[in-house]
Amino acid sequence: MREIPYETVVETVKQMCMEANYEMGPDMYAALRTALEREESPQGKAVLEQIIENAEIAKTERVPICQDTGVAVFFVEVGEDVKIVGGSLKDAIYEGVRKGYQEGYLRKSMVQDPLRRVNTGDNTPPIIHFDLVPGDKLRLLFAAKGGGSENMSVARLFAPAAGKEGIKKFVLEVVEKAGGNPCPPIVIGVGIGGNFEMSAILAKKALFRPIGSRHPDPFYAQMEEEILEEVNKLGIGPMGMGGRVTAFDVHIEVMPCHIASLPVAVNIQCHANRHVEREL
Ligand code: SF4
Repeated sequence: MREIPYETVVETVKQMCMEANYEMGPDMYAALRTALEREESPQGKAVLEQIIENAEIAKTERVPICQDTGVAVFFVEVGEDVKIVGGSLKDAIYEGVRKGYQEGYLRKSMVQDPLRRVNTGDNTPPIIHFDLVPGDKLRLLFAAKGGGSENMSVARLFAPAAGKEGIKKFVLEVVEKAGGNPCPPIVIGVGIGGNFEMSAILAKKALFRPIGSRHPDPFYAQMEEEILEEVNKLGIGPMGMGGRVTAFDVHIEVMPCHIASLPVAVNIQCHANRHVEREL
């Protein structure tokens, strides 16, 4: 059994929270530059230039890319032959978030109760999805998920007859209705299958894929491209100011489901697409 000290996890999570909030990934920089070349609307171009400039300032000055530093969302793959010593894995992630958001001067965005709205003061609790996998590694995926784009996300249970075309229509409706609210250009995560809650988790996980990556199954890869093309014809454009670039990409994740159901969730990610990954 491989041992990983509790403090190593705390320190790693702390650094992940800060890095994700200060630095866009290389795929996002590339996507923004491509978008700038493709965008025809002057307002859209101006917005994209400002997004790039803002990202560069954040990276250089170690300040957050956006004032909304997000809910801390984790997908954690725990190897069956790994053990955290000195404390629990869950506590270590909580402590890392606490430290990362405190020491990194990141806005604390969590309220203790959804209706009474008192801020927890340290951005905990994070939302953690654990998965047990073979091996002796611990893989942590972290995203700082902003509220504006999350609010535009929708899940629906279709009858199986809705099929591919029904899902494409649904995604387009969700994106059109969202308009400029989720701070486009967006990334669209689509979860298909599982059940009610799994479709939403799949949609969230889809957002962690690099921009430009395609689903390994050619059927879904083609569907991703078809939805992306249609979304970019909607004319919403960067920050809803009009233009050709409404979405950077569409990522679909799927899993088996009940014979009577076709669960579909659309999770929208804004242009402040902040996620990082570490393996211990
Ligand atoms: S939707 Fe994204 S870019 Fe817009 S305010 Fe929220 S975190 Fe910031």
